[in-house]
Amino acid sequence: MNNRDFAEYYIRQVAFAGIGSEGQARLASSCVAIVGCGGIGSAAAEQLSRAGVGKIKLIDRDYVEWNNLQRQVLFDEEDARRALPKAVAAARKLKTINSQVHLEPIVADLCSENVEELLEGADLIVDGTDNFETRYLLNDACLKAKRPWIYCAAVSSYGMLMPIIPGRTPCLKCLFPREPEAGRLATCATAGVINSITGLIASLATAEALKLLVESGKAAQGLISVDLWENLFEVRRAGKRSDCPACAQGRYEHLEARGEAAVRLCGRDALQVRPPSPQALDLKGLARRLRKAGEVEENGFLLRLRAQGRELVLFPDGRAIIKGTEDPKEARSFYAEYIGL
Ligand SMILES: [Zn+2]
Repeated sequence: MNNRDFAEYYIRQVAFAGIGSEGQARLASSCVAIVGCGGIGSAAAEQLSRAGVGKIKLIDRDYVEWNNLQRQVLFDEEDARRALPKAVAAARKLKTINSQVHLEPIVADLCSENVEELLEGADLIVDGTDNFETRYLLNDACLKAKRPWIYCAAVSSYGMLMPIIPGRTPCLKCLFPREPEAGRLATCATAGVINSITGLIASLATAEALKLLVESGKAAQGLISVDLWENLFEVRRAGKRSDCPACAQGRYEHLEARGEAAVRLCGRDALQVRPPSPQALDLKGLARRLRKAGEVEENGFLLRLRAQGRELVLFPDGRAIIKGTEDPKEARSFYAEYIGL
């Protein structure tokens, strides 16, 4: 496509008074990081690409599965068949949607050791994660680097969102000083989720992102909650907490907690196991060796082993997702038995 085609690509958006040609130029020179390319993250990535954000970092630790396709709009059946990493599959699809956007797919689990490096250069972060542990980490990293981020969540027919702007708005710790109990109980695996809520929260997040990137001064104030089944739409003003450890006192306890857990829950009936230090594994060689032990597939990005009624997906850095157990000891011994790091 030439420059004239691209002028036409954005013509309806430039015609919108809130953006105009100046706003469009700002979008083109912006970088957004999307953490988690699931239902919300993939839909937001598509909208931000079509809107012409210049650079998008796609950070995700997982791979495409069949149960994602009902709502994760960037993936198709072939991606699930091949078990492609979500960040890679998302970047491939986005490239066909808008070839002008610079895409950086990153297959990694965001943790305290890598979060600052991974978010480097981003003007704004969209939260597409599914757990509070990672959100608190994002909150700390964004406050420290003074990067705005958009807290997003969706489960069943319910979703919420709040733009968090360091120095201006309350932060996630002001809103939820501790991990909400309900968050532990209702997950997309246990309570299900409909695609209209993930799509809606992604649209709201994109609108907030555009408003912030073009410096419109119109960012939503407070927590927006929606329940599409119960017809509930609500904006709740939130206040800063004067005793907030993160935004008031500048103590970033999640960021400073080094030595990430070696094993942690990753969805339902699945655990993530990390090696003591990042590796650079030869997956092809390992696949040849493991063929004797079970059913093995290797796709250039990850290796999948099925054995003893369990499934292990291994990434080149040695990280693995083990399905079929919720017992950390079992997961570790399964990992040790086959991968042996
Ligand atoms: Zn706070």
